[in-house]
Amino acid sequence: MTERTHKDTAAKAEPTKRTPQPEQTPLPVAPSVENILMLQRLIGNQAVGRMLVSDLTSNILVRQPSRDAEVAPSKSLQTLTDPSSVSVSYSGIYKDILARNEKRAALLDFRVRLATVQRGEELSGGVAPSQEEIESLQMEIDQLDSRIRMSLTELGMDSEEQLRSVMEAKPKKEFASFIDNAAKYGMPVKFLRTVLANYHIKIINSGDDNVQPTLDTMSLSRDTMDTVENFSPLLPFGESAGIQTIFHESTHAYFDLESKDPNTAKIIETGQQHYKDAPLKMGKVADDPNRVFQEAAASYVGHRVVSWWQIFEMLSMAASGEIPSDAIAEWVEDAKKQYNEKMSRQIFGYQETGGFFGFGTSQTETTRALPDSLRIFLDTRLLEGKIPNEFEQVSGFQELVRQATQPAEAFQ
Ligand SMILES: [Zn+2]
Repeated sequence: MTERTHKDTAAKAEPTKRTPQPEQTPLPVAPSVENILMLQRLIGNQAVGRMLVSDLTSNILVRQPSRDAEVAPSKSLQTLTDPSSVSVSYSGIYKDILARNEKRAALLDFRVRLATVQRGEELSGGVAPSQEEIESLQMEIDQLDSRIRMSLTELGMDSEEQLRSVMEAKPKKEFASFIDNAAKYGMPVKFLRTVLANYHIKIINSGDDNVQPTLDTMSLSRDTMDTVENFSPLLPFGESAGIQTIFHESTHAYFDLESKDPNTAKIIETGQQHYKDAPLKMGKVADDPNRVFQEAAASYVGHRVVSWWQIFEMLSMAASGEIPSDAIAEWVEDAKKQYNEKMSRQIFGYQETGGFFGFGTSQTETTRALPDSLRIFLDTRLLEGKIPNEFEQVSGFQELVRQATQPAEAFQ
């Protein structure tokens, strides 16, 4: 990815040098609409500082609210965003790109008027710009556009792909480091790697962890990522919830990615059928079988991985001598009991119920167990057979038990 980015930039820079274009281009090729829309989407959706880009009449309007009074109108301009993203700061990639401009309102007004005039429509309540005004404001727009364009080129972000790769470098790196760490402890990470390679990853400073299939994006919260940073079985940093969340959300992402695969498509279809009219708690009935199916799958995976992890932690403590030797047998027995109990759970999944047009809803769990086809699929494909039902089936655990219970003289 990095290599390709560099190559593309060089290839683009070269023809400019060979073909000088004197004077003739005060209005060079505008930044491609695709780039601008991408920039807008990234900023709108991806929290890159208190800035906003809005595409108007194929030109670009950049808005960087600096006062509270400006934030609300800016929010209302965003068409593709979750409101939480506005207040989030991002480490300055766009500081150079999006120059502050005190005349934004004038520019916006001008662009709307200009576009109206150009389309030959009548201005309602507005005044058509004079030739002089057009020239002077057009010059400002050109300068702004060309600054943005230059900055994008300088940063190697003059294509959609490059822009994305720069924006996603850090979240991807953090997710990759989580995966490497999880792999080290023997957790099933193949499907996480599929998600890492093929899905957009965002880290959000506010709001809940979520997957947006329409945007091919998995958003993990800063909190989630912080708790799993360098997680280890002997350092109790409360990483359990983070592990559970990451595996849960990655399952949603994986199903989205694989939904075209015939085998997976069949699992999804069977699963949706299975949860059609399924009973929910409090005497309710499922009317959103796809959601119940999705949450059943994701919750099953998250539950099994985190349960495995918790027992792994218990055994690691015992094996590292943190448990008094006369308590070890009971400790191990407890770990075994807990593992088998946790893995016997077969009922997962929920959907939103109640409320009115999405307000005031709550999540109500189903009381129906997973369909066999789904359980087997998750156990083998996602969990790679690494998280079996019985404690005795986990070979790594047996090794830890052996270390925990072997006579102390073995170390002498
Ligand atoms: Zn979910």
